[in-house]
Amino acid sequence: MGELIKIENLRHTYPGYDNQEVVALTDINLTINQGEFVAIIGTNGSGKSTLAKHLNALILPTGGKCLITGIDTADAEKVWEIRQQIGMVFQNPDNQIVAAIVEEDVAFGPENLGVAPQEIARRVTEALALVNMEEYRHHGPHLLSGGQKQRVAIAGVLAMRPKCLVLDEPTAMLDPRGRKEVLDTVCRLNKEGITVVYITHFMEEAVTAHRVVVMEQGKIAMEGTPAEIFCQVERLKAMGLDVPVAAEIAAYLRKQGIQLSQDIISDEQLVVALCP
Ligand code: ADP
Ligand code: MG
Repeated sequence: MGELIKIENLRHTYPGYDNQEVVALTDINLTINQGEFVAIIGTNGSGKSTLAKHLNALILPTGGKCLITGIDTADAEKVWEIRQQIGMVFQNPDNQIVAAIVEEDVAFGPENLGVAPQEIARRVTEALALVNMEEYRHHGPHLLSGGQKQRVAIAGVLAMRPKCLVLDEPTAMLDPRGRKEVLDTVCRLNKEGITVVYITHFMEEAVTAHRVVVMEQGKIAMEGTPAEIFCQVERLKAMGLDVPVAAEIAAYLRKQGIQLSQDIISDEQLVVALCP
């Protein structure tokens, strides 16, 4: 599979107050291939949102490069091409919904891209179906649950036919049911081929990714499969991060002398290992 995102020696410095620059990212090197599902975790202030904003040219590197399908995000003429390829979904569903009717909201992106009306109607139908929200097409977004609103926000992005979804803590404001709806939707879309970059502080969500990137103080501290990352319980805790409950219990049982493999990261795997 081809490279979709290639980040080379990326650095980002914000001009802080009193000329006190804030170095938010340093030495970031990361390649994401088409079809991958990459989770990004890290404590508050570790640079996750700053990294996400680079993927969509919302901010530009102060050092190094960010290439999207080979296009440099610093190329001002290509910025709309990049934004069409990489759809962003943010934390607060209420800040992302712009219209008074669900279908109008989903149509907003393609309208801005200058897509013809008939084609927009087709895309709205398709996008709402992809997030299982067809029956709410004519509803007012304010009546929806948080999980439903996030799915409408995802549909709005899908209507622009992006190659990649970048979601920055999309479930942080949702209840457990809403979180599950959003994660299930994202997993299904990934299985259908869309690339996913998913920032979360819920470790149980990160476990579903193909690859986990751990950020710490503006750098990539660890990178690997969920099993490779989450078996390092002590290190993650030292960084101030949670670990999936199953991984933590497995580590505890190992300490008590119970033989369990290192790759237990989900409840199901733990149950199977304990009750073969
Ligand atoms: P995360 O999403 O992991 O919490 P951020 O990318 O939001 O991290 O922030 C990384 C660092 O950059 C933090 O120290 C934060 O205070 C700083 N930062 C973020 N946005 C700005 C901004 N607009 N101006 C100045 N500093 C910022
Ligand atoms: Mg953030």
